[in-house]
Amino acid sequence: MSRIVLLGPPGCGKGTQSKLLVEKKNYIQLSTGDLLREETSKNSDLGKKISMLMESGELVSDEIVINIIVNKVEEYVNKSVIFDGFPRNLNQAKVLDKALENISLELDSVILFKIDFDILKERIQNRIKEAASNDLRKDDNIEILLNRIEVYKSSTLPIVEYYEKKGILSKINAMEDIDKVNEEILKIIS
Ligand code: AMP
Repeated sequence: MSRIVLLGPPGCGKGTQSKLLVEKKNYIQLSTGDLLREETSKNSDLGKKISMLMESGELVSDEIVINIIVNKVEEYVNKSVIFDGFPRNLNQAKVLDKALENISLELDSVILFKIDFDILKERIQNRIKEAASNDLRKDDNIEILLNRIEVYKSSTLPIVEYYEKKGILSKINAMEDIDKVNEEILKIIS
């Protein structure tokens, strides 16, 4: 069993690679974005609050996200798990370590997806052009993407140093094609 974090800016391919690992290696994908979108579809007060934040590209509060994810960590204690989109700040990284420690587990690997921010903008613009409008996520628009990149730089990038110091960080070139990126990830986790 292993537990890995995929770390990288929005649109860098974390979701695509997570799905490949689910297919090929039987991982469970824990995507906080997906879990939060599930919550918004319930149309509860909490769901509406989450929706507003997600649609602006800002982070949802740690309290909400941590509650959702910690329950899942305990549920999947005997599985190999990919954390996709979590942690997104230093506090979340520390809480994840603690939650794993409480059940005598730890992270095996953190993989940083490196990508040029101009290429990211291009990718999302293409995604918007090619997708049928009902397939688009509400936050698939260029202004929100730019905000999400800024949030990534200020809140999420500081985690890199935290994991580097722990000696579990690997970096991959996320600008390569999907298969090549997948190969690199498999090398790291095997
Ligand atoms: P994603 O699907 O990972 O791109 O996430 C979409 C949106 O969900 C983000 O822009 C945030 O608003 C919210 N979100 C996802 N994961 C987290 C997290 N770990 N902490 C706070 N907000 C999150």
